[in-house]
Amino acid sequence: MESIQIKTHARQQFVDITGLVADAARRSGIKEGLATVFVPHTTAGITINEAADPSVATDIQQKLAQLVPHSAQYQHTEGNSDAHIKAAIVGSSVHLIISKGSLMLGTWQGVFFCEFDGPRTRKVFIQLLGE
Ligand code: ZN
Repeated sequence: MESIQIKTHARQQFVDITGLVADAARRSGIKEGLATVFVPHTTAGITINEAADPSVATDIQQKLAQLVPHSAQYQHTEGNSDAHIKAAIVGSSVHLIISKGSLMLGTWQGVFFCEFDGPRTRKVFIQLLGE
């Protein structure tokens, strides 16, 4: 298992970690297998989406902010209920197929760490299985 650290710089920020996941897969030497990428936080998540055009990640963040406003009638008193809800929507793990030693992502796909209550120092766990 690998643990990587990510420093975010804004309250809401998507960080493209595709290269970090690909590096971990390469280091493992696995030719055929799976990579699970897991975020051990309740106000951050992980998703796979278009990485070629950065406006896609911006649109996703803006729409999530519209759907789940920072200030609203929430029960949780910590002031970050929107971040918990956004993390629930995007989820806390993704799975990637490794074949011939490479991540089998589509041409436009990238893996994004999704910060919803930054800036913070965060962790991402990568578990690689295969041979
Ligand atoms: Zn909270």
